[in-house]
Amino acid sequence: MKFCPKCGGILMPTKKDGKTILKCRKCGYEEEMDNKAKKEYQIKESTKNEKVLTTSIVSEKEGRKRDEEEWEQEREEYYKEIGLELLRDEFEGNEENDED
Ligand SMILES: [Zn+2]
Repeated sequence: MKFCPKCGGILMPTKKDGKTILKCRKCGYEEEMDNKAKKEYQIKESTKNEKVLTTSIVSEKEGRKRDEEEWEQEREEYYKEIGLELLRDEFEGNEENDED
């Protein structure tokens, strides 16, 4: 987990120009996602829920492009997983539980 050096917000993996970067949702600060960061985020996910971020990173290696919409959903799940319920506000109205 990395934090924004500018505002202290949480940096989340974001797709940009076909690669994954870390972006602050608060102020828009962006930074490269180096291997260390990738590993860090990947490990954090796989300990709890393998399907969220690891899936994205794996598909990225396969050269697949993901919809920004898909990423929004995954990030929403990510927030839930790491217990940052407060950040879910941003997703209110966008949330649907229609699986199965
Ligand atoms: Zn920031």
